[in-house]
Amino acid sequence: MKPELSFVVVEDDATTAAVVRKILESAGHKVEVVLDSTAALETVLKVRPDVVITDIMMPGMDGLEVCRRLRSVPELKDTKIVVLSAKGYEADRAQAMAMGADGMINKPFDARTLEATIRELISDAVVVRYWGVRGTLPIPGKRSLRYGGNTSCFTLEMPKDQFFILDAGTGIRELANYLMATRHGPISAKIFISHPHWDHINALPFFTPLFFPGNEFEVFGAPQGAMTMRELMASQLDGVHSPIALRNFGARVFFRNLSEEKLTVGDVQVSTMYLTHPGLSLGYRFDIRGKSFCYITDNELHLPDSPQFNREFRDHLVRFIKGTDILLTDATYSDTEYPKRVNWGHSAVGQVAVLAHDAGVKELQLFHHDPDQSDDDIDRKLESAQMTLAQLGSSVVCTVPAEGEVRRF
Ligand SMILES: [Zn+2]
Ligand SMILES: [Zn+2]
Repeated sequence: MKPELSFVVVEDDATTAAVVRKILESAGHKVEVVLDSTAALETVLKVRPDVVITDIMMPGMDGLEVCRRLRSVPELKDTKIVVLSAKGYEADRAQAMAMGADGMINKPFDARTLEATIRELISDAVVVRYWGVRGTLPIPGKRSLRYGGNTSCFTLEMPKDQFFILDAGTGIRELANYLMATRHGPISAKIFISHPHWDHINALPFFTPLFFPGNEFEVFGAPQGAMTMRELMASQLDGVHSPIALRNFGARVFFRNLSEEKLTVGDVQVSTMYLTHPGLSLGYRFDIRGKSFCYITDNELHLPDSPQFNREFRDHLVRFIKGTDILLTDATYSDTEYPKRVNWGHSAVGQVAVLAHDAGVKELQLFHHDPDQSDDDIDRKLESAQMTLAQLGSSVVCTVPAEGEVRRF
């Protein structure tokens, strides 16, 4: 992104407009203010700014209508629009996005972070955060100081303020703390569950934003037999295994059953695939604006010379993850551990490396580490995967994300 941007600020309140102008100009940006919203389109067409910031409640023409008009001009398709709202309702945010806004900031805004927040909202980057990278059980203590000890939880932050949560292992508690500390308006997210084994769902009741009215979540995942996603989540919140029940959630929470399918969620194409694991475990592929991220966990890649090897499944999986920017996947075992764990539903790192190479993945990220492994054992798995890739002459980059890490791509 260019270091300096040009802005048109549409705001009927002269004091707010002056504050926004001062903040942006002192960061080196060019700013034009329009106090009369009916003149917004004319000014934007003249100035051709990188970003339009518009208030919502204005006399003459409201901010949503400003968005709609700007979006009806094909030449302005690359112009970013950020809406300032004093109301903070999720429904207003959704409506602004539907009208073509790229993001919304609630008033009163924090002057210290306004410029950074705007940059984040107009960025095309996908931000991945890693909240828990362990498999099966949380591992506290000295053996997990570097990679962290929490179980599966990841987030994808995407353009237009789209926020996805992948799994609800114990890492989701740190995510909750992060959101409560950094988000000032309503929180809305889609939660994708790979499957309902404990290490992927059991910290959902500790996800604090679920208890606040005004927040909104949609939980996606595969039903298991006759049990729907709602029933699967409710079954651990039954007053016996947990004192909390679904009815205690203050947020609006929806559930959606998935099978192998393709669906559109906001601007994101979501594809799913059944994996090789006890019960139904779903792998996900997320495609947005030419970028893609695959989340393939609890999956066993049987050795090619074993009786369990299924050529059709493996070919399907290669097609599913083909060419993805990041493949975050189950690499539970080292190659020497795996023979003692055949049919446990998890993969050895060597097979994962060959898969990533065959599918032309750009970056392979190993996670779902076995609870018996220390940080040093995980380092050895990484070395082993890198060695396998080197022997294949592969261009795949292999990494092990640590809890708390942030990646942009
Ligand atoms: Zn697991
Ligand atoms: Zn599992």
